[in-house]
Amino acid sequence: MGAGGPAGDRASRPAGEAATGITCPTCGGAIWDEHGEKGLAFHCRIGHSFLLGAMLANHAAKHRETLATAIRYTAEAAALKRLIASWAWTHEHSLAAARLDEEADMLDRTARELERVAGTAFALGASSGP
Ligand SMILES: [Zn+2]
Repeated sequence: MGAGGPAGDRASRPAGEAATGITCPTCGGAIWDEHGEKGLAFHCRIGHSFLLGAMLANHAAKHRETLATAIRYTAEAAALKRLIASWAWTHEHSLAAARLDEEADMLDRTARELERVAGTAFALGASSGP
């Protein structure tokens, strides 16, 4: 197997540590947990390291940022569909316009649901921690 493939990943994994399946909130790479003298800590392949409290805070910040991006793109997709639908209505493409308006409505509902879910997730995150 060539360099950079799965064999390369295994070869560079820190000895005696198991990957968590969680990604580094700074670079998005794999992250490993370590149970050392300072308690539970985390580090990624390129050297970002976090004690437990920092990992929770940084991961929560990345979670908020990612959800905000999802909400923004969903709302933008609805706005784009509405803009195109408006053009289609004025150019006598009524079937396409009606379909685009329906898709925009669905995207608006999805954006509102994402906002509701994000609010729930952040309310839960505010009370967790060591
Ligand atoms: Zn990292």
